Parts: sequence; structure tokens; C-alpha cells
Amino acid sequence: MTASFDLTGRTAVVTGANTGLGQAIAVALAQAGASIVAVGRSAMDETERLCRDTGAGFRAVQADLSSLDPIEQIVGEAVSLGSRIDILVNNAGIIRRADAIDFTEKDWDDVMNVNLKSAFFLSQAAARTMLADGRGGKIINIASLLSFQGGIRIPSYTASKSGLAGLTRLLACEWAAKGINVNAIAPGYFVTNNTEALRHDPKRSADILGRIPAGRWGDPADLAGAAVFLASPASDYVHGIVLPVDGGWLAR
Ligand code: NAD
Repeated sequence: MTASFDLTGRTAVVTGANTGLGQAIAVALAQAGASIVAVGRSAMDETERLCRDTGAGFRAVQADLSSLDPIEQIVGEAVSLGSRIDILVNNAGIIRRADAIDFTEKDWDDVMNVNLKSAFFLSQAAARTMLADGRGGKIINIASLLSFQGGIRIPSYTASKSGLAGLTRLLACEWAAKGINVNAIAPGYFVTNNTEALRHDPKRSADILGRIPAGRWGDPADLAGAAVFLASPASDYVHGIVLPVDGGWLAR
């Protein structure tokens, strides 16, 4: 048997797809044949152009995932575009930086709501559609090196991403036998808005680069292979993993 990475005929929901890693993942899934429902707070024009250039079906959903309100609409848009959700990528995420001693309740709640709470309830809503017709599906959570490590000055981010790794394993255990693969990707240090503050801090930036065995920051397109693998039949027996795509960072 040859492994299949073909996503033709599948519908993929990607959150936070207007920029950065989410945009790169949406484009990679589109190139592999999937139709894309791109969810985000702001305009999706560039992602739409890049996805449509591949010939993919595309729909944009403007939604703020700091609350659970948009979930019904997101599922509805996916079902109307492709009749069901085949693939969900929980990518939308935010980060707040401050010393733990000064960290505010707002910076805690804001991050946990987007990074963890919405990811769980969107997974639940997607899984209900995947289970309804018995055809299963793929859920990919975008975790982080902070799913494995502590970090500094990002308490709610570390808690959310460590929580997301645990949730990935729990959902895999509950849904694996029902045909849903739940896995996560842990990106290392990538050039996106999320890491802008780090990249503009000369000391932190040099320290980080010096620790990456690959000798460079990640480019969002570096996630394409892992995303397509975990979204495709090639990963049908892969459940509950957190796959680092980190230029070797965790190997140090
Ligand atoms: P980014 O800031 O460019 O993208 C974040 C995305 O999430 C944007 O599309 C944004 O619109 C969306 N988003 C944020 N809050 C939202 C909300 N309330 N409702 C809807 N959408 C919302 O950063 P990125 O680096 O592309 O981040 C994508 C994911 O990758 C995040 O979960 C982040 O934690 C994770 N990550 C990034 C890195 C990195 O090095 N860049 C490393 C590990 C993990």
C-alpha cells in the first residue's frame, strides 16, 4: 500500500488563517486538494488568493474566538461548503508577556480563552459532525515548545499550550476508536507576529538562534509537510502525538 497524502474532496477548517502559521497551513492543505474554511478576526484576502490559486474551494469566516459564540456559525459554513468537516486545525492563538509576579487576570483569561477553551469547544463541535455520519476526521492542534518546556514571562501561554498537549492526548484516547485522529504540531521558533517581540530583542534573539540546531528560525512553510501528513490518510494510525517541527530545538 502506498501512503496517501491526497486531501481531494476534504473540507478543512483552519482558525487564525489570515496570517502566519495558520495561513501557511491553509495553503498547504489547499495544495493537497482540500477546500478551506478560513477563520479569523481580520481580513482573509491574502489567504483567499493563495488558496484559490491552487484551485481550492474557499470560504472566509470572520470570527472572534475569545468567546464560544462563533462556533455554530463556523460549523455551519463548513457544512454548507463541503457537507461536513473532515479536518479541523486549531491554530488561532495569542501570547501575553509579563513577569509571573506581575501577571494579570485579564492576560491569563484572554490567552486561555482563545488558546485552550475555544480549541476544546470547536473540537467538540467538529467531532459531533465527524461522528454523526461515522466517517471520522482529523483534528490538529497547534501546540508549542511550551507544551514541553516552561519558558519565561508567558505564564498563561505556557499553561494553555501544555494544556493543549494534554487535551490532544485525552481527545485521542476518547475518539481514536471512532475514526477521529487528534494530534498536535509543536512549532519551534517561527518568523511570525507571535515572535516579533523576541526577534526585536537582540539578546533573546541571538540566544534563541544559537540554540536551534538547524541554525535558522522557522519559515511558516516549514509546517506544510507535518500539517498535510496529520490531515491525510497517511496518518490514520497516528493518535495523540505532539509532533515538534522545531529545527531540532528539543533534541538539544
Ligand atoms: P500570528 O499572531 O501571526 O497568528 C495568530 C492567529 O490567530 C492570527 O491569524 C490571529 O488572527 C488569530 N487569532 C488570535 N486571536 C484570535 C481570536 N480571538 N479570534 C480569532 N482568531 C484569533 O502568530 P502565529 O505564530 O502564526 O501563531 C499561530 C499559532 O502558532 C498560535 O497558536 C501560536 O501560539 C502558535 N505558535 C507559534 C510559534 C511561532 O514561533 N510563531 C511557535 C509555536 C506555536
